[in-house]
Amino acid sequence: MGRADLHIHSTYSDGSAGITEILLQAAAQGLDTIAITDHNEIRGAQAAQEQARRMGLNLRVIIGEEVSTAEGHVVGLFLRDRIRPLLSAEATVAEIQRQGGVAVAVHPFSLWLRLFRCGGVGRRVEWLPFTAIETVNGSAMEGLSNNYTAWFNRRYTRRAEVGGSDAHTVEAVGQAYTVYPGLGLDMLRQAIYHRATRARLRRGTYLAVAGFLRDYIEGKLDLYGEKGGYIKKADSI
Ligand SMILES: [Zn+2]
Ligand SMILES: [Zn+2]
Repeated sequence: MGRADLHIHSTYSDGSAGITEILLQAAAQGLDTIAITDHNEIRGAQAAQEQARRMGLNLRVIIGEEVSTAEGHVVGLFLRDRIRPLLSAEATVAEIQRQGGVAVAVHPFSLWLRLFRCGGVGRRVEWLPFTAIETVNGSAMEGLSNNYTAWFNRRYTRRAEVGGSDAHTVEAVGQAYTVYPGLGLDMLRQAIYHRATRARLRRGTYLAVAGFLRDYIEGKLDLYGEKGGYIKKADSI
């Protein structure tokens, strides 16, 4: 079984962890694949892919982006080009698919993130053609909404389930992940298309919470600034 953390932020958006730190932590956590999914940005992911090769790590890096659409956050995986923010969720999903990527509805029902205008797409998961749904988001506050999302997906949407840490600090990398049969990017893609993935949460996240508080207090996480996932349109969520 492969293990992939499909939702990680770096210093290229509002995370505090640099690319090399993330790569080393991912390898140490036993992951074989990660996606760097910075807010509205793919340069960190491109740098990480290059860096993993240079370091000779046995770790694959997917070019991802967490796009702030006008109706909530959407992650694109396996992208070629950056997608600009504030398109509709529908247009964003279409653009991801036009690039041959995988569209993921991340934290679709997060109430906590919605409070801070960083929510997901909500019930739009029912009619937008997402390939996967993030049923496990590693953020500390997502327990309840993860359970609801998993239930909703089993009952209504029945898309591939994926897990991602939504790491903004190095300690959080690998706290949530996706397991899939086989190994490597092709197998992961196939598993997503065949709904053979499973989302997993690692217990004992207190270190990740402590790391988050430390970096937040030290001002290293610019969550609501230019590089954060804040959705600017007043009527957007
Ligand atoms: Zn988000
Ligand atoms: Zn995120």
